[in-house]
Amino acid sequence: MSEYKLLINGKLVDGAKSSPVINPATEEPVALCPRASEAQLNEAVAAAKAAFPAWAATPIAERKKALSAIADVIEANGAELARLLTQEQGKPIGDATGEVYGTAAFFRYFTMLDLPVKVIEDSEGKKVEAHRRPLGVIGAIVPWNFPMILMAFKLPPALLAGNTVVLKPAPTTPLTSLKLGELIKDILPAGVVNILADENDLGAPLTAHPDVRKISFTGSTATGQKVMVGAAGLLKRITLELGGNDAGIVLDDVNPKEAAPKLFQSAFQNSGQVCIAMKRLYVHESIYDEMCDELAAIANNTIIGDGLKQGTQLGPLQNRMQFEKVKELIEDAKKTGKVIAGGEVPDEKGYFIRPTIVRDISDGTRLVDEEQFGPVLPVIKYSDPEDAVARANASPYGLGGSIWSNDKNKAYELATKLDSGSVWINKHADLAPNIPFGGARLSGIGSELGEEGLAEFTQLKIINIAK
Ligand code: NAD
Repeated sequence: MSEYKLLINGKLVDGAKSSPVINPATEEPVALCPRASEAQLNEAVAAAKAAFPAWAATPIAERKKALSAIADVIEANGAELARLLTQEQGKPIGDATGEVYGTAAFFRYFTMLDLPVKVIEDSEGKKVEAHRRPLGVIGAIVPWNFPMILMAFKLPPALLAGNTVVLKPAPTTPLTSLKLGELIKDILPAGVVNILADENDLGAPLTAHPDVRKISFTGSTATGQKVMVGAAGLLKRITLELGGNDAGIVLDDVNPKEAAPKLFQSAFQNSGQVCIAMKRLYVHESIYDEMCDELAAIANNTIIGDGLKQGTQLGPLQNRMQFEKVKELIEDAKKTGKVIAGGEVPDEKGYFIRPTIVRDISDGTRLVDEEQFGPVLPVIKYSDPEDAVARANASPYGLGGSIWSNDKNKAYELATKLDSGSVWINKHADLAPNIPFGGARLSGIGSELGEEGLAEFTQLKIINIAK
């Protein structure tokens, strides 16, 4: 087993304690993971605070070079990182490889952005400039479904803007982040990035720490609410990327056979553990039976297994808690709908659940109304598209949503009525580093990615000069 270390103030150090990270496909330990104490968290924040003035004063061209060097080192170690990602997270190795190289691409994207001084007015009486200043120490908190790419929503823009960072991955998927720490240790000045693994106990003290100026958080809505409370005392900046219950709405002109594979992928990628997975599917009554049959056939033919095995299409749930939660939702759905594929848990080691399709289910049931975050999709019948949109909007979440139709105008018109941060037409969950991403209502506050995402790591400062 490899050894892992925390990165604090440019040094790789042991944790105050350690505990294993479990491979969800085998339930065996992947490695013993160092876990930081609160004292080590304080050391990391102090190191980031001390490193801030020099990093903020470093020319942006130099900071971009550092981001490029990080991208290079991720690519150079891509195969090893992908294998480790599969072992700790469970996703198939092809998907893990995509996530790792995607992470490098996100770092590279931010090297193309700048934070120029904007002249707002230059008149006879005055000149007014808008500057974007770094904030200071950023606390970056990441969940367990995409440990690498979600880290890359935060680290590159935070660093490009001149901030320093304390990164805290989820307790069940810390190893790829710690490995990254080892790889970037000598690329950045000591203290600019610090990486800590915890036992789910350091998110709150990091959020409340008086020397942390902003929390960039991705995770559940319930924890996001705690972050908001924790940050309130010092009016800390927060970006919250939280839960979702994305609806897909399929209109009557869609060919079920053609659309079903894309819909299936939208719902089941990463075994449904995607914030913007399609989590409820509304299908017009005229094509409902055929669509349910097509989806069930795909589910039944899907190969689930250890992500390191050749041919695996879907891996396990990432951790036992999520595994139990999804099983419970399926048991409930057996009473409120009809399971036409999956529904059973293979009698073998690992947190596996076969992809499950539930039909004849409606709004007001747990599986439709709650975020399942797992490989089970409720398919709901509707007759009026406007009504389907109203039902999609009735959720307290507002992360994403999609309209599926061959009539582009009709789809566009309905898309404008979906009340969520992102809406896709004839696809779902298309993310890219240049496209801002964020949620409405209980799905979050603020944006990540793109120029908007970069701006959130800065303080707007106006300089207003009399002439
Ligand atoms: P979670 O909220 O349990 O944990 C997320 C992170 O917060 C972990 O690192 C955890 O250790 C930390 N944490 C725990 N308690 C904390 C506290 N009091 N203060 C600060 N941080 C604390 O979420 P999860 O179960 O790991 O992730 C699944 C959830 O994340 C789902 O709801 C999913 O939709 C959401 N998610 C959202 C996005 C998005 O961009 N909107 C992306 C991925 C996942």
